[in-house]
Amino acid sequence: MKTSILFLLCSFSLIAQQKPNIIFIISDDHTSQAISAYGSKITKTPNIDRIAKSGAILYNNVVSNSICGPSRATLLTGKLSHKNGYMVNEKVFNINQPVFPEELQKNGYQTAWVGKMHLGALPNGFDYLNVLPGQGHYYNPEFIDKSNTKTRYEGYVSNLVEQFSEEWLEKRDRTKPFFLVVGHKATHRSWLPDLQDLGAYDQVDFPLPANFYDTYENRIAAADQDMTVDKTMVLKEDLKIHANYNAPGNNGLYNRFTPAQKAKFYDYYENKISKEFDEKKLSGKALVEWKFQRYMRDYLSTANSMDRNIGRLLDYLDKTGLSKNTVVVYTSDQGFYLGEHGWFDKRFIYEESLKTPFMIRYPGVIKAGTKVQEVISNIDWAPTILNIAQTKIPREIQGKSFLPVLTGKVSGWKNESYYHYYEYPEPHHVAPHFGIRTAQYTLVRFYGPQNAWELYDIKKDPGNMHNVYLDPAMKNVIAQLKDQLKKQILTYEDEEALKILESEK
Ligand code: CA
Repeated sequence: MKTSILFLLCSFSLIAQQKPNIIFIISDDHTSQAISAYGSKITKTPNIDRIAKSGAILYNNVVSNSICGPSRATLLTGKLSHKNGYMVNEKVFNINQPVFPEELQKNGYQTAWVGKMHLGALPNGFDYLNVLPGQGHYYNPEFIDKSNTKTRYEGYVSNLVEQFSEEWLEKRDRTKPFFLVVGHKATHRSWLPDLQDLGAYDQVDFPLPANFYDTYENRIAAADQDMTVDKTMVLKEDLKIHANYNAPGNNGLYNRFTPAQKAKFYDYYENKISKEFDEKKLSGKALVEWKFQRYMRDYLSTANSMDRNIGRLLDYLDKTGLSKNTVVVYTSDQGFYLGEHGWFDKRFIYEESLKTPFMIRYPGVIKAGTKVQEVISNIDWAPTILNIAQTKIPREIQGKSFLPVLTGKVSGWKNESYYHYYEYPEPHHVAPHFGIRTAQYTLVRFYGPQNAWELYDIKKDPGNMHNVYLDPAMKNVIAQLKDQLKKQILTYEDEEALKILESEK
């Protein structure tokens, strides 16, 4: 009897040990065009690439509402925005709803979130929290712990996020598997690089995207936005040209600096960049293109620190032997425009902001060098993590585990994703819209201030330049896609979209 109980206990502890640890790194606004694993020629991200090389890289991972808070609310709930209630930024996430880390806890996991969270409330399901309030700050940021105590730390945010992640890993309960979210603030506007990265790309001349001077023909919502490098991007606040270093306000960017940090920043942005800008006396296209170059330099320099810190984390996992049994994900809350259509920012169902980078390594389970073309949505992230953690997936979760896709053990994956964006008119005047993205097409219905359908053949037109909704040859495709869209709307119970669809009959 004693032997069999001992045997049983041993088997249980063996099973418990086999549950992998999971680290989910989620950055902000960091887009595939800025990641060398995705073929970017304008920068190098050697450490993020390490994750892709030793596991799987996803080429069609899309989000369901391309902005910060809603993306993280969907990560936590596995539900679309209208179901978890977090549809636009700067709201308070309803913490009285189930989140998947609670299931992990029930199944013996220790859970933690460090860094950017942006939900306006601290959700349940975490044993440890040390998160940035709201958007957080790049320099000398505050962090909030589980007891809601705010502490300000000296240093640069990407370094601190890494430091706190490692410190938690060091002090964790080693008898349990863990789930850790590493939430990076980079590369969110207004792109303040770490001091050591100032000027990292000053010698690079970035090619303008082919559609930088897009005139938005047949796309009325695209024509109506307020997110261009030309008109929306601000010289002073975004590009730090003659930024006010002494005023107390100024978005809290500079008045947070230590004197030493401020001196270095001033030396670079004021004495060098602003001076060059004054001397050039730019206008028209020359000014827009100069802004584009500065945007790229600030954005990519800001990404440098994050990539370096992800390298530190991967080294830590190697050094401690954790690599062997730890799943590592790298993703971003959405993609971003790096000058495509003349834009920065996100929001649209168009490819650059609809897709988000996603790579995952899972030693012994996912083959190194796996390339995934299937359409996968961020509602699928939560159930996939639960699946990896050998935890039951609650019925109310709207996504599906794509672990079988990653291991090549699936046929008939859904290959379609639902999208619904709401935030209007501020901050970027992008009309609300809902739609469907399949392996070949994007069909979208804009509503509110701009009522219009658009259709894109992604295979032929990945830049979403040619709206073919009115092309008679597309009639059957449109009918089929509308049918598919309606099925999704019914499945996901999106009443607002259903009402609009029904009103057209
Ligand atoms: Ca974001």
